Amino acid sequence: MTSQPDCPFCEIINGNQPADVVAETTQYLCFLDKYPVTEGHALVVPKDHIQQFSQLTGTGLFSFLQRAHTEIREEFSPDATNIGLNNGEEAGQTVAHLHWHIIPRYAGDIPDPTGGVRGVIPDKRVYEEWISPVDDLVVVDWTTARSRVTRHITPVFGTDRDYHLR
Ligand code: 5GP
Ligand code: ZN
Repeated sequence: MTSQPDCPFCEIINGNQPADVVAETTQYLCFLDKYPVTEGHALVVPKDHIQQFSQLTGTGLFSFLQRAHTEIREEFSPDATNIGLNNGEEAGQTVAHLHWHIIPRYAGDIPDPTGGVRGVIPDKRVYEEWISPVDDLVVVDWTTARSRVTRHITPVFGTDRDYHLR
């Protein structure tokens, strides 16, 4: 394993700093975040010290991420999850060791969760227009898009009741 001095995640991987381990293989580790956004917030890392997504080799990360996600769901019973990667400093990365966040979400944890990870640009989190994936990126006004939005949202959430016309 390649290690980087002073990297907090390498310290955990090498057993020099404590962490609540959720899942582990020879190549990957999942542990709870020290400053959780919500209960059960976990980080998934490759054990090799790399900083960016483009440096990742191998195909095992995705299945490990799924396994770690299952562990988090079973232990914390969230209603939903945000799974995300801050890839590079300009994207908000503060620890220079590649890691995915698994952030459990609980009904009512914020008043309106619409848009989720779109909140990386806070002003853009809630969208008032719908860009249809099936109509060659035609921008459709919310008021006329209601039925099309419902059709896309329903298979995922079972209902469109959380989506508000503005
Ligand atoms: P980033 O901003 O790089 O995407 O996320 C870094 C994450 O690492 C943050 O959510 C932060 O709370 C977490 N973190 C920073 N230092 C430590 C540490 O020493 N131990 C653990 N478990 N998490 C850490
Ligand atoms: Zn590291």
